[in-house]
Amino acid sequence: MRGRVTDPVLPALAWIGLGANLGDARAALAGAVQAMARLPGTDVLRVSSLYRSAPVDATGPDYLNAVAALRTALAPQALLQALQALEQAAGRERPYRNAPRTLDLDVLLYGDQSIATPTLTVPHPRLWERAFVLRPLVELRPGWATPEQLQAVAGQRIECLGAW
Ligand code: ADP
Ligand code: MG
Repeated sequence: MRGRVTDPVLPALAWIGLGANLGDARAALAGAVQAMARLPGTDVLRVSSLYRSAPVDATGPDYLNAVAALRTALAPQALLQALQALEQAAGRERPYRNAPRTLDLDVLLYGDQSIATPTLTVPHPRLWERAFVLRPLVELRPGWATPEQLQAVAGQRIECLGAW
């Protein structure tokens, strides 16, 4: 039955964090944006500038990062599965935690929902610890993070590369 108060509001506005630091990272992120636009019931509304950031809690090459705003009819878990399929298609391997990666797609926010399941936590639990998420997110949503929240990640090296 539709219209029950517990139904999620679909389509929803979802915010996706993109990152890559192996192979042709710029091509991987651009390909991911195009692939997200082809997901069922999904439009890419906006994409942030491209950023270059130092790995956090990890070694390896610098990352390229961005944030995209999607309008999607996919439910949160279906969206996560679709994003993980795109990671796999880009050759993603998970040899160890925080390993360098060809493509990482994280669900940062999904509408105003709070989700805590074994496979999906939204808002993304480390969102506020990472300049490479907060900076592009705030580029698209000025004022979304407080000055104190931005100050907390100000020591992390990140550079805005501008348009893609
Ligand atoms: P990282 O945390 O470094 O992005 P992975 O991309 O390998 O690591 O993801 C590890 C697991 O995190 C995934 O298998 C997924 O089930 C889980 N996960 C929990 N919440 C989220 C989220 N909001 N977005 C993406 N993955 C999530
Ligand atoms: Mg991830």
